[in-house]
Amino acid sequence: MSYQKLIYMEEFPKPKYMVDMGSYNTMPVPYKEITHDEFMHSFFIYCLEVQDYRQVHEEPNNRMSKLLITRFFWFQTFGIAIQEFQYYPEQKYKYYRLGCEHNKTKEVSSWDCYHKVDCLDCGLHWEYDSSG
Ligand SMILES: [Zn+2]
Repeated sequence: MSYQKLIYMEEFPKPKYMVDMGSYNTMPVPYKEITHDEFMHSFFIYCLEVQDYRQVHEEPNNRMSKLLITRFFWFQTFGIAIQEFQYYPEQKYKYYRLGCEHNKTKEVSSWDCYHKVDCLDCGLHWEYDSSG
């Protein structure tokens, strides 16, 4: 039997883009809009580390713009978000992928199936077991 323990935000080793968020009411940079299917795929493939809820300005540089309800889900190396951008007359949502895409990585060590990897773009370090 496997289970997962959700941890408090303070215990979560926040990636640099999350620390750099600055204002509480903005999206973490970088972020990009993804499809509903890409959002759901990520949700079912990766293990959730922590979730967060914020109100995010519709226009990033306009503090007078509408605040949108946004829920963030953080995995080990990236995050996804769902945002309700219209409530009435029907609910509509946008989906986002958060953080570095980790396109340039370097394996710093491996032992059997245990790997340690650094991202050369953002500096994030993570470890994983490829044995299944
Ligand atoms: Zn990266």
